[in-house]
Amino acid sequence: MKVRFHGAAGEVTGSCHEVEAAGHRLLLDCGMIQGSEADEARNLQPFGFDLARIDAVVLSHAHIDHCGRLPVLVQQGYHGLIYTHAATADLLPVMLEDAASLAEMDAERDNRHRRDGHGDHKPLFTRQDVSRVLRQVRPLDYDAPAELLPGITVTLRDAGHILGSASVEVQALENGTTHTLVFSGDLGPRGTPILRDPAAIPRADLLLLESTYGGRAHRERAATVAELGEIFSRARAEGGNVLIPAFAVGRSQELLYQFAQHWDDWQLSKWRIFLDSPMASKVSAVYDRHHELFDEEAQQVWRKKPNPFQLPNLHYTIEVAQSQAINEIRSGAIIIAGSGMCNGGRIRHHLLRNLGNPHNHVIFVGYQANGTLGRRLVDGAAHVKIFGEDIVVKAQRHTVGGLSAHADQPGLLDWYGRIGNRPPVILVHGEDDARDPLAVALRKRYGTDVSLARPGAEREV
Ligand SMILES: [Zn+2]
Repeated sequence: MKVRFHGAAGEVTGSCHEVEAAGHRLLLDCGMIQGSEADEARNLQPFGFDLARIDAVVLSHAHIDHCGRLPVLVQQGYHGLIYTHAATADLLPVMLEDAASLAEMDAERDNRHRRDGHGDHKPLFTRQDVSRVLRQVRPLDYDAPAELLPGITVTLRDAGHILGSASVEVQALENGTTHTLVFSGDLGPRGTPILRDPAAIPRADLLLLESTYGGRAHRERAATVAELGEIFSRARAEGGNVLIPAFAVGRSQELLYQFAQHWDDWQLSKWRIFLDSPMASKVSAVYDRHHELFDEEAQQVWRKKPNPFQLPNLHYTIEVAQSQAINEIRSGAIIIAGSGMCNGGRIRHHLLRNLGNPHNHVIFVGYQANGTLGRRLVDGAAHVKIFGEDIVVKAQRHTVGGLSAHADQPGLLDWYGRIGNRPPVILVHGEDDARDPLAVALRKRYGTDVSLARPGAEREV
């Protein structure tokens, strides 16, 4: 059994690893590269493997940096099956159709800006490619071994990162011996609301371990939740609005869950709450179809009425006109809108209307990448440009750090420590400044044989 690294080997996005065993080839994830324009241009380059020789794909979860190049794979002739957890199969159409329309819009805008007006920029993929992907998807359950190819059995384990997220165990029978490769996928922190904690893996001969936050420890979730309560009470006293740029999958649902849990102490009945993101609304509907995957506490919460997705003053605004109507509200609105980093989406209209008022508050609940509007606001910019308009920023800005969907270094070490035989590790899905300290910590705590994945490198299991 061999594994080769094609993506997320020294960076966070573009997850893609190839497994060769028992005479077959399997792809783990086929993710989009995200970041600067130069990074994203790499999505147009040929895959680092021969796609005619890939027999099956296994997808760890529905985030675009894990599934976003599947439509390119089928466009270029991949006809095989794509296995993933049933909830991921339900999230995929939402994620990929959104990515396809963004790609189509990008291409259109690019072509319009060509001087001759005859641009030939083609989108990375289209909605037709997405439909083909969806036809090739086959759902699996957690903890149910499935022989995907003769001699190759795959078992998905709950990774506690987003709904349907999985760690993937690949077992291959070669010459009478079974070898086990485990790919962690993205791992959630223990205690994430709604989701179960990441499941323990029994054993592995080699582990591909994510390392996104391998170099740091998160703030306690309880401190973050207390901070949110303080901001709402201040905003209420000042008579302003609260804007929350939110990520559609996971973070938005968790916010609604926290609202339900703290309904009385945060005096939320006095606010009008808007989930102004059609994508987050669709994702919430998928969460609602999979209560069986929720942890014990969330299952109890959902048995009560109203549940977090049905709060009495929560409005799901789908139509553009409904979203525009929110712009008229000067006070008492909590507006959750995408995109999470403010580089697109409806949040930009709300920022345009609300940033100039010192009584308004903007709460950042997730990572803000370099070069995004969200990052400029977090860094304290006094002026920003939105839709060509120069805005003086007077609204109060808050960064609350404890709602991450990724395990931190103590969480990763703890998850690894539960694997009975403490296998050798290859670190993927992390920049070197996160992988290096995690490698040091694994060696120190467990004496683990650790190496860092490099693009194109190969390793025998
Ligand atoms: Zn993820």
